[in-house]
Amino acid sequence: MDTMSDGTRAVRAGLPDPEQYEPTLPGPVLAAHFHLSGAPTGPYTYGRDTNPTWTHLERAIGELEAPGNPVETVVFASGMAAISAVLLSRARTGDVVVLPDDGYQLLPLVREQLEAYGVEVRTAPTGGDAQLAALRGAALLWIETPSNPGLDVCDVRRLVEAAHAAGTLVAVDNTLATPLGQRPLELGADFSVASDTKGMTGHGDVLLGHVTCRDPGLAAGVRRWRKVVGAIPGPMEAWLAHRSLATLELRIDRQCANALELAHALAGRREVTGLRYPGLPGDPSYPVAVRQMRRFGSVVSFVLPDWERAERFLAELRLADDATSFGGVRSTAERRARWGGDAVPEGFIRFSVGAENAEDLVADVERALDAALSTD
Ligand SMILES: *Cc1c(COP(=O)(O)O)cnc(C)c1O
Repeated sequence: MDTMSDGTRAVRAGLPDPEQYEPTLPGPVLAAHFHLSGAPTGPYTYGRDTNPTWTHLERAIGELEAPGNPVETVVFASGMAAISAVLLSRARTGDVVVLPDDGYQLLPLVREQLEAYGVEVRTAPTGGDAQLAALRGAALLWIETPSNPGLDVCDVRRLVEAAHAAGTLVAVDNTLATPLGQRPLELGADFSVASDTKGMTGHGDVLLGHVTCRDPGLAAGVRRWRKVVGAIPGPMEAWLAHRSLATLELRIDRQCANALELAHALAGRREVTGLRYPGLPGDPSYPVAVRQMRRFGSVVSFVLPDWERAERFLAELRLADDATSFGGVRSTAERRARWGGDAVPEGFIRFSVGAENAEDLVADVERALDAALSTD
């Protein structure tokens, strides 16, 4: 499978060897415990530690994260469970941890938790590789590229090189790109982390996360943390996620193509400012994105003049639901400032582009813009 393309790999990822009269992808194993006599050695003992449905999914994700390379993946109940597992299991009192100041909106809460444990937290923006300046003496560098929701991009290889030279481990939040958009481990990172609630599963019906590492020792630390805090995915969620991976390339290719179409259309609108899409030539993120990304993601960001017109635009959309999250086959859009956690203008729209027909979607957005902006 190593030489095959992403789509072929995704369709077959993590499937067990064919066995007469067995299903292609075994169904979810709903078990709190497994028959176990004598010494309690694996593979399956207790449902908080291991589950065959996770094993299949973890193998599948590993094949996508690092085709042809041995890696270990640990799945979690959510993206935040995966993020916390890396940061809170690694950081010790007195350590320095470097975080982006424009990353996922819960990172400030994680920062508070780290500081409560006596960890020194430094922050810097994602764009321009600004985190380089904060690296000295750091135990761990946390990267989020493209950043959510600002869509800035940093040069992962460059940051990893500087971090490793300083003895710093590097984790990349790869949620927005998915492994089909970017492979952090191949760019040198020690941890590839993601919320699989987004594009990875893509149907808006599952919360899930994962961590993938090359180093079995690092993976063991993360797995131990999952056991200690019990942040385990349900077997049903794990199975649904695995089922969704078969269409990952189909979905991502369609959504990325639609996102680029939408970005081009928005670039032609006078009322739209601050347009961002890493795959749009001319975007500040484009030069680095085109070198390290294989696909540019399904999120387009832009700014409408004020909150009122932004809300009117969202209400006018017929093909995009006013809802949070992103990466799903059905388009969603939201006025990001309503949460209060991101440093964005009141009229900032984060648009998650789905798998609809591009012409229909662009027409719907153009119509909603006309209706929202021209009536006053
Ligand atoms: C959504 C998201 C998370 C959190 O994931 P959950 O599955 O909601 O816990 C983390 N990082 C990024 C970049 C996200 O978009």
